[in-house]
Amino acid sequence: MKKKVEAPDIYFMRLALAEARKAAARGEVPVGAVLVKEGRVLARGYNRPLASSDPTAHAEIVTIRKAARKSGNYRLPGSTLYVTVEPCPMCLGAIIQARVRRLVYGAEDPKAGAVVSRLKFNLSQANHRPEIAGGLCQEECGQLLKDFFRQKRRGKIHQAVENRTALK
Ligand SMILES: [Zn+2]
Repeated sequence: MKKKVEAPDIYFMRLALAEARKAAARGEVPVGAVLVKEGRVLARGYNRPLASSDPTAHAEIVTIRKAARKSGNYRLPGSTLYVTVEPCPMCLGAIIQARVRRLVYGAEDPKAGAVVSRLKFNLSQANHRPEIAGGLCQEECGQLLKDFFRQKRRGKIHQAVENRTALK
């Protein structure tokens, strides 16, 4: 992925990482996002489909919704969205709808990513094409996911053992 990192990118990505950690603490897949306009954080959010019973409550959607409400505008021209993981097709669609100027993401999502991964969008025909930079803080962003899924697997194994015990 082309890396056109701008000076404050790391700072804002760290804020997105803090959001991702909030998701992990709540048992949600750790993805966090921050939307910045004119150097200021307009909104931040984390992945929370379980807590919201909402399959669309990805970090990017949560953040874009908050930012749009806050600015009283369904479009967010001139904004930059920082997200810890490569967006899925739904979120990339929302980013285009919202006219986000620039997208900066961390780790790639080989299974569901829509920028460079398996579900890659063809943006050449899109009526709005955000500038995209990927791979920022990707190790930290990816490690958060790895740790989360490792813990989850352990939890599941634990649960399975408990169920077996209960059946005896
Ligand atoms: Zn998504």
